[in-house]
Amino acid sequence: MTTSASQSSLATLGASGTDSTSALFARLGLDRDARVSLTAREGSSWAMTENPTTGAPLAWVRLDQAADYDRQAAEAVETFNAWRLVPAPARGLVVRAIGDAFRQHKADLGELISLEVGKIRSEGQGEIQEIVDIADFAVGLSRQLPGLTLPSERAGHRLIEQWLPLGVVGVISAFNFPAAVWAWNACLAAVAGDGTIWKPSLLAPLTAIACNRIADEVATSMGHPGVFRLVIGTDTEVGERMIADRRLPLISATGSCRMGRRVGQVVAQRLGRTLLELGGNNACIVHKDADLDLALASVVFGAVGTAGQRCTTTRRLFVHENIAPAFIARLEKAYRSLSTRIGDPRAEGTLIGPLVNAQAVTQFEYAVNAARQQGGRVLVGGGRASPAAAQGHFVEPTLIIAPSDGSGPLPIASEETFAPILYVFTYRSLDDAIARQNSVDQGLSSSIFTESMRVSERFLSPAGNGSDCGIANVNCGTSGAEIGGAFGGEKDTGGGRESGSDSWKAYMRRQTCTINFSGKLELAQGIRFE
Ligand code: NAD
Repeated sequence: MTTSASQSSLATLGASGTDSTSALFARLGLDRDARVSLTAREGSSWAMTENPTTGAPLAWVRLDQAADYDRQAAEAVETFNAWRLVPAPARGLVVRAIGDAFRQHKADLGELISLEVGKIRSEGQGEIQEIVDIADFAVGLSRQLPGLTLPSERAGHRLIEQWLPLGVVGVISAFNFPAAVWAWNACLAAVAGDGTIWKPSLLAPLTAIACNRIADEVATSMGHPGVFRLVIGTDTEVGERMIADRRLPLISATGSCRMGRRVGQVVAQRLGRTLLELGGNNACIVHKDADLDLALASVVFGAVGTAGQRCTTTRRLFVHENIAPAFIARLEKAYRSLSTRIGDPRAEGTLIGPLVNAQAVTQFEYAVNAARQQGGRVLVGGGRASPAAAQGHFVEPTLIIAPSDGSGPLPIASEETFAPILYVFTYRSLDDAIARQNSVDQGLSSSIFTESMRVSERFLSPAGNGSDCGIANVNCGTSGAEIGGAFGGEKDTGGGRESGSDSWKAYMRRQTCTINFSGKLELAQGIRFE
């Protein structure tokens, strides 16, 4: 999205303004949403959102200002005060109905994601499936949220921990998961008794409007308006205000490490809580005893899927030197075969859609040039792609071999470039491969391919010399997590955990309660005060 409306000559929906797009917008209520204009709007209070496949505008979205944010936050606190009194299983019923509504709208919302951020059809729909899945998970959770009963050292006393609603949660989302990450937060927060205020990326506001609209309409129809709120604005006008807002006890922020550093500092200054899901620089190790067919398919999906725009995208590959020539040759062949599969993400057969905008293409080119200057050899790709009938932001899936045939250093590989670039290294010892995998600042996802239990256990070693990432997979690529596990990473990835397992605890406050039914005062640690 750009805040300039200079393309006013594209006064209507431009290349994206097909009948099918208009019908899609109508089905999702976007054509009648007060925030959305299908004709060009001038001025700083409107922003244009474009279709990365064509470069043409999709719509103009009205931006919230400081006063809009303040009103929403004040109302959200009021809503929370009532919502937290609703029994958790009844809150779960609302989330269940929301999950059902997303089931019904799965195809349309997936299509909207393809239009707005360029994900191929099955990935766009997969993202909505993730919403359905996390809603199911949250419904089950609404009948649990378990506390503990602990033995008291004092006779006639009971010691328990209980989990209580926390407050209004600020959710900041990245462009590349414009729907699912909000739902991970919003569904768990809702059953926990919290409200959410969602600030989406300005690169994907339509998806946010459509999703929040569905959740709010369902909740409103069940008597709970305003539990799910949306603010759309610039980082300076709305984002900064949100992260500094003491009314929001938790800020859950997904995005770059740069953003996380800022959010972390501001929220820490007011002693609030953060849940940070930041950048990754994920590696895959292919050991000499790996099933190479499995490894090949997994590496290609991990590196090329979503056009390299996943936080869990495979960005670095470490191949054992014994198998490196053969494996890299197969990888090269697979990459070359992809040239005909780049294009409109909604077209049958497309595997690689566009990057999200022109700036992303520039960053791709910068990284490829840097790699060349550092001695890297571009084996496949390295440039822009021009698929037929698409004038958007396309690049070629790119394979770059590190200097000295994979054994030398390549500093650019330590940075996360949000594009389909895979840097290939070779290694001799497993210890060296794991150490090099761990040598980057980020610690999100990692994977190893091996048929050896010893190698696999070494990679997962509890001794601390295995993978240092939040996600460590065996014979399964870095990309594509299920909702059931806790999702997140270490080091500069921010340390937060979202989605499954016990991530719900982040959205609640823990209270330790001692109940004395002895009729006598007895102090802990045997202290006497008489
Ligand atoms: P980004 O950091 O540019 O923006 C992310 C969000 O932060 C946007 O909503 C943006 O408006 C907001 N933001 C930025 N500065 C802010 C401020 N000062 N105050 C409040 N909000 C602010 O990231 P992006 O380009 O949208 O997404 C790509 C990045 O996100 C990559 O680094 C990727 O690895 C990361 N990501 C991480 C995960 C994860 O779970 N670890 C998931 C998806 C994406």
